[in-house]
Amino acid sequence: MTDRIAVVGGGISGLSAALALEPLARARGLELHVFEREPRWGGAIRTFRQDTLVIDGGPDCFLARKPQGVALCRDLGIEGRLMGLRPGTSGAYVLADGKLRRIPLGWTTGIPRGVRPLLGARLLPVGARLRALRDLVPGRPVEGDVSLGAYLRGRLGDGIVDRLVDPILSGVYAGDLDALSLESCAPELAARARSGASLIWGMVRRRPGPPPTGSVFLTVDTGMQGLVEAALDRLGSARLHAATSVTALARTGDGYELTLAGGGRLDVRGVVLALPAPRAARVLASAAPRWAQALERVDCVDLAVVGLAYRDGDVGVPLDGTGFVVPRRERRAITAATWLGAKWPRPSGSLVPVRAFLGRAGDRGLLDLSDEQLVAKARGELEPLMGITAEPMVKVVFRHPQGLPQYTVGHGQRMRALAEATRAWPAFALAGSAWDGVGIPDCIRSGQGAAAIVAADLGLSGGT
Ligand SMILES: Cc1cc2nc3c(=O)[nH]c(=O)nc-3n(C[C@H](O)[C@H](O)[C@H](O)COP(=O)(O)OP(=O)(O)OC[C@H]3O[C@@H](n4cnc5c(N)ncnc54)[C@H](O)[C@@H]3O)c2cc1C
Repeated sequence: MTDRIAVVGGGISGLSAALALEPLARARGLELHVFEREPRWGGAIRTFRQDTLVIDGGPDCFLARKPQGVALCRDLGIEGRLMGLRPGTSGAYVLADGKLRRIPLGWTTGIPRGVRPLLGARLLPVGARLRALRDLVPGRPVEGDVSLGAYLRGRLGDGIVDRLVDPILSGVYAGDLDALSLESCAPELAARARSGASLIWGMVRRRPGPPPTGSVFLTVDTGMQGLVEAALDRLGSARLHAATSVTALARTGDGYELTLAGGGRLDVRGVVLALPAPRAARVLASAAPRWAQALERVDCVDLAVVGLAYRDGDVGVPLDGTGFVVPRRERRAITAATWLGAKWPRPSGSLVPVRAFLGRAGDRGLLDLSDEQLVAKARGELEPLMGITAEPMVKVVFRHPQGLPQYTVGHGQRMRALAEATRAWPAFALAGSAWDGVGIPDCIRSGQGAAAIVAADLGLSGGT
């Protein structure tokens, strides 16, 4: 019997699985092999660094309230390098009728926390504000899964949904609110929907959590790539295969055979497949065609992030927020911008780092554009809004083909059924952003959960 186990995929999901398996494998004298298609590790996580300038081209932070992010950083010894939002920077802007307007106080993810914030939100037309008052009357309970858009439009009306909820909520998935699943993308709202109760009163009555002890979002001082580097340092005893794609997986008598690009093969006793859904589908296409079909159903959106840095003094508006979001109704190519210099307390010399996001569900051909075209598109929209007429000193493009999975209506049920079916294969588990949340802490949890399945099936997690 082979003495190897494997993790396929070197993004945060795969690295989290590998970190969980590494001490167990070492204790049992098993080789742990980790495969990553690209020459670099980290998947969606990538950071541009130049002197003290840091521009994250994928995630630039993670939610502090989900414990897995901080816990992993603690385990890796980099908790002391985490930083919260720059003190004094609060809130963000939204593009409304071509102008940047502050997202009103007293609103959470585009939903007012009471009647006063609703009526006081002057960036919304009066008619939209009055329409939302209808939410105060309980409605019919929602049964089963529906789209976020259908539910929120029914309660609050199109005016608020299109202007505020869409850019904030669908921004996380770069998705279409009218296709995204209420249950999978907003479980807290789904619970409220099932009671038919008012959303606004729900926001008012939400029991306050423990007093906030720090920032809602956290990042690593040297950029999110710092998390990946710390993970790789910890994986010293594992066999790390960068630039090595796994093209297929087949079952053998006592485990699995991985086929590598170039024709190599490796027998393993257990495997975590921590890949984006379309990639996992390809690897499983011949061994498990039905699972592959289910994975192919997870549509993924192409994204690009354009990082720019301007000379201090060349920016014509005060950067007194974390950036801005762009509703679909504004018909722009950029979906959001992060004012990195205002958001994080990093020294960036005399440069002002900014990044713009391009791509959302339904867009076609974005990644056919050259880097120059993507930069031109981003600058053409960003610079007039930020009062910039000067050339940027730094331009960098990050491409994310099929970068974000779309949790469309019924996603949760489909993925639960698939996860259940995969239990028929011992010491095999799928992980990644397609499963139970796209955020970094969700992916860490997913990778660790998959590692736990493999470890349990192989009897690695017990004491002897
Ligand atoms: C632009 C952008 C901004 C984001 N912002 C945030 C944020 O601010 N906060 C947050 O919490 N989350 C954010 N997210 C989401 C989060 O970053 C991702 O969901 C998460 O990083 C995905 O990790 P993963 O390991 O599951 O997948 P990936 O990072 O995609 O990693 C999968 C890896 O598998 C490799 N691979 C593919 N096929 C094969 C194969 N056949 N063999 C071997 N290797 C293969 C790929 O090269 C890749 O490295 C953002 C995502 C994007 C795209």
